Amino acid sequence: MLETLHSIVQEVNSATDLQTALETIVRRVKQAIGTDACSVYLTDFKRRTHVLRATEGLRQAAVGKVELPLHRGLIGLVCERAEPINVDDAPAHPRYLFLGETGETVYHGFLGVPIIQNRKVLGVLVVRQSEPRQFDDNEVTFLFTLAAQLAGAITHAQASGSLWEDEGREKKTSKSYLQGSPGTSGVSHGVAVVVYPMADLDAIPDKPADDLAAEEEALLAAVANVRKDLERLESRFEGLLPSEDKALFQAWLLMLEGDSLVNPILEHIRGGNWAPGALHHVIEEHARVFDGMEDSYLRERSSDVRDLGRRILMHLQKDTPVVIDYPDHTILVSEEVSAVQLAEVPPEKLAGVVSASGSSASHVAILARGMGIPAVMGVVGLPVGRMDGMEVIVDGYMGRVFVSPSQAMAEEYQRLEQEDEDLSAELDSLRGLPAETTDGIQVPIYLNTGLVSEMSSFGTTESEGVGLYRTELPFMGRDRFPGENSQSENYRSILSAFAPRTVTLRTLDIGGDKPLPYFPVNESNPFLGWRGVRISLDHPEIFLTQVKAMLRAAVGLNNMQIMLPMISRVTEVDELKLLIQRAYDELSDDGYAVTMPRIGVMVEVPAAVYQAEELARRVDFLSVGSNDLTQYLLAVDRNNPRVAEIFDDMHPAVLRAISHIVEGAAVYNRPVGVCGELAGNPLATPLLIGMGVDNLSMSASSLLKVKWVVRSFSRTRAKQLLQAALRMEEAEPVRKLMASTLDDMGLGGLVHPGR
Ligand code: PEP
Ligand code: MG
Repeated sequence: MLETLHSIVQEVNSATDLQTALETIVRRVKQAIGTDACSVYLTDFKRRTHVLRATEGLRQAAVGKVELPLHRGLIGLVCERAEPINVDDAPAHPRYLFLGETGETVYHGFLGVPIIQNRKVLGVLVVRQSEPRQFDDNEVTFLFTLAAQLAGAITHAQASGSLWEDEGREKKTSKSYLQGSPGTSGVSHGVAVVVYPMADLDAIPDKPADDLAAEEEALLAAVANVRKDLERLESRFEGLLPSEDKALFQAWLLMLEGDSLVNPILEHIRGGNWAPGALHHVIEEHARVFDGMEDSYLRERSSDVRDLGRRILMHLQKDTPVVIDYPDHTILVSEEVSAVQLAEVPPEKLAGVVSASGSSASHVAILARGMGIPAVMGVVGLPVGRMDGMEVIVDGYMGRVFVSPSQAMAEEYQRLEQEDEDLSAELDSLRGLPAETTDGIQVPIYLNTGLVSEMSSFGTTESEGVGLYRTELPFMGRDRFPGENSQSENYRSILSAFAPRTVTLRTLDIGGDKPLPYFPVNESNPFLGWRGVRISLDHPEIFLTQVKAMLRAAVGLNNMQIMLPMISRVTEVDELKLLIQRAYDELSDDGYAVTMPRIGVMVEVPAAVYQAEELARRVDFLSVGSNDLTQYLLAVDRNNPRVAEIFDDMHPAVLRAISHIVEGAAVYNRPVGVCGELAGNPLATPLLIGMGVDNLSMSASSLLKVKWVVRSFSRTRAKQLLQAALRMEEAEPVRKLMASTLDDMGLGGLVHPGR
């Protein structure tokens, strides 16, 4: 059964339009289940009817004609209950409705399963049998699985407006869009150009090599060609991207340099495998290490590794890449747009990016941000195969993609595009101005860094320092822990880039599912396991090396603070402070002119919220890690797309927790910052100011937006809004309140398209 299911699903997915998909399903299901008839009814919500859309067994002439009013018949019952209805003698059922036009008088056995997408019943998949027949459990689950596939195809059709238009019914395009996640804010419209991955690494088998030397030579030649491609593409971005973002190309070139990627492939070849097989193994091994990482940025690196692998394979197979003639206003669309595919589009022709997979941490999103190109990532159900040449609107604020939009929608978005341009000119005028409320309270805005993308020259000049430097990155992509000297050099470069402004270095925050390749941790519950300072305390030698590197890096600059992540017990702080003191003493004894830095803790687990006061007594500052705090307060995995909708850092429980932290810290007069994503969300800015949060730390792209909000509110007004928000019981009304407040003040453009 599983094989049949696979093959039906494949055939349905390759259908070019909804009708073909429906016809495929009814034909194949009838055959697979060995039944007399199989049909699909879809619900037309406007007309409040269930319409027969495809059948194999009932009269073909009835397709599109037979309509059942909502809630009528067994079909209506399946929709109402959103459950399968399985009856061996349908005419005997009280809800049975006789429909002569379908020729169904003779059918007794009935099994109907609902077609559900996003909790909404879209229609029913039905099989019928002339004789009485009770369908068995296997048949029910089989239909269920197929119905789920059908739901995806219907959503595709809705997005491209083809669901009802073929019958002259009202076109549904005006409000239909596909939802993804925002990659780069901004809106644009243009023509979809669909690109496909070049060569399929997964299809490569192992094969004994006849001539090892020839295989090695072929591999090195392919790698050299990929290098040339990358260098050519890099030169395209001269003057277009901040040099820091362009460093991505250097990172890829470095990967091709030898030690980590090429040498292991050569070793595999020497073990007897042919070059493509060896390449496949090594690329998969590398990509899998990244796949398992918690940090979304690092997890996304696996797609870079696979992309490089495909490029090498393409040259190994001596395939010439397809040359695409990109039209003006190209919207680049793919199952997984790679950064290099983006680089292949002449920059002046690129208007937007839409990718079925990936997130805002993908390199392609980072490049798009650097170029100011709107991008939507992770669009579930993107009908990639049908989009080429279609008109598309990309809404990077809301993460929406409109395929074949109605004229009214296209006009609306043109207006929004114009307003966006005006807005960014206005934001630019805020550069260099202080982040100060209208009643004169300073709310310093810091930068979150640690990743290439965040080290833009704009972020460096525009921020008042670094509120969170994630030190994990220099520890990744290596084969052992970095030594004190190399760490120190790294920290020194960031400290001197910002001096005399403060830089907050966070100590290593690795964990069970953010493993270092050379320090594997396997746990069934990694978020509640060995992570952050728990590892530091169990391995003081790692912590001491890092702290010494930090202290040495700050000599003469004295602009560093140290921050401890994932604190859940006060004794952790006591013990880590002793270790920091020890590092300081040892360095002083060795003659270094080190100074004792300010020490702070991150408040990101509920225990720390309720001990904010006790923590504040022990340290110089607190910083709220709202990402983890939300995850632990709401018990929602921050990286799990299935529960992404209920991960909400504006949940009243999160807001109350932050208020509680501020009150606790106030007892000892300690400043509180926020450095999770919430800090960079203009909707939350007035609430955080109202709570008395002292500073905010965020990625470069949010700096000016948040500054604008800070400069538009008084603390008094912010407090009033906070009071109102804290009375709310759900996140949604809080968001609505804040969005309408910003709208009323002419700041709506910061959180949605248009002004
Ligand atoms: C947080 O948890 O909010 C935070 C800033 O730390 P990270 O995202 O690195 O876990
Ligand atoms: Mg965290």
